[in-house]
Amino acid sequence: KAVIGILALQGAFVEHETALRKISSQIKVCPLLVRTLDDLAKCDGLIVPGGESTTIALLANLAGLLQPLREFTKTKPVWGTCAGAILLAEAVENPKKGGQELLNGMTLTVARNGWGPQVDSFEAPLIVEGLQDPHNAFTGIFIRAPVITAINSSPDQPPMRVIARLPLGVVPKSASTPIDNEDDPRRIVAVQQGNHLLTTFHPELTKDGRFHEYFVRMCVVPFLSC
Ligand code: GLN
Repeated sequence: KAVIGILALQGAFVEHETALRKISSQIKVCPLLVRTLDDLAKCDGLIVPGGESTTIALLANLAGLLQPLREFTKTKPVWGTCAGAILLAEAVENPKKGGQELLNGMTLTVARNGWGPQVDSFEAPLIVEGLQDPHNAFTGIFIRAPVITAINSSPDQPPMRVIARLPLGVVPKSASTPIDNEDDPRRIVAVQQGNHLLTTFHPELTKDGRFHEYFVRMCVVPFLSC
């Protein structure tokens, strides 16, 4: 059984645990809430949940987990959702005053709270490449979500594989300039780079377990360059 850790310091970690338990009848998975170094050492992969990225980083630092998490990220599968997506990035625009710590797992830049405050939360139907039944749209739930503003390619890193974009018809009203260009990076909402997965939305808040299944497969199938 793959042991999938969920960083359980703040945010929506229980919802991820529930989502993993729900799919455990189809795929062998053992969820583990991670709060200590010992917990982390048991994990085959790790989910960094949504919540508040600066708070999660602060608590990780207090628990002596920040550097170990960076080390873990260098070699093991990690999935960041929303705040977790910010933590997985290598650079953040609009960081908390005084700067914020990142895990630096994926070569992209995100703008924190880029779609505006909580009241500007929205949902969007997403066609996601690689999910089971891909034509059946996945409901993306965006809550104070980060916006991907740049994909920074790096020759020594695996390629960035975009697996979901916002449909052109669903452009949040908070977008600073119109999004009418197919290639606008702000449309990218789910992306995989090597054994890292990033979603700017919250799959754990839906009843649809396909993203969790996708990540568990990433953890059990040895990574082959995509
Ligand atoms: N805006 C939050 C942050 O900075 C993320 C919000 C979320 O995870 N729903 O971490």
